Amino acid sequence: MRPSWDEYFLKLAMLASERATCPRMHCGCVLVKDRYVLSTGYNGSLPGSPHCEDEGCLVVDNHCVRTNHAEMNAICQAARHGVSLDGATAYVTNMPCTTCAKALIAAGIRRVVIFSDFHDTFAGRFFSESGVVLERMPMPCREISYDLSAYPSAKGFDPAGS
Ligand SMILES: [Zn+2]
Ligand SMILES: [Zn+2]
Repeated sequence: MRPSWDEYFLKLAMLASERATCPRMHCGCVLVKDRYVLSTGYNGSLPGSPHCEDEGCLVVDNHCVRTNHAEMNAICQAARHGVSLDGATAYVTNMPCTTCAKALIAAGIRRVVIFSDFHDTFAGRFFSESGVVLERMPMPCREISYDLSAYPSAKGFDPAGS
């Protein structure tokens, strides 16, 4: 079935999360305005730093502090490219942590859509105090349905070149 816009962008956030490098949590974030993707992010190490997957997590108070969170990376990518996030929507796989919630609010995000919760966060409180709309949706279908054989003019690529 054709996904709604919200399902589509949440699914993109799931796709971004596949790039995450911390085994404790895989998160993805997509920042959208007027149905255009402005930026994406996943939780991963800073440029030049080793990955949790390779060197283990850096755990402080039961949280891995090695990775920059998905929301932060999406915001930072926008900053690098001079893209304003004012009035945008954040699609995130998980409820943001307190720090990311504050950054999203300060960056001008007005709506946050998630499908999974996260414990010990003040995100909900800060969102409501700042008038940011928080919406919880069901997790989108985990499968991508793309069937080349359904399109007669499309051909699959044959890696063997035969
Ligand atoms: Zn980690
Ligand atoms: Zn966070």
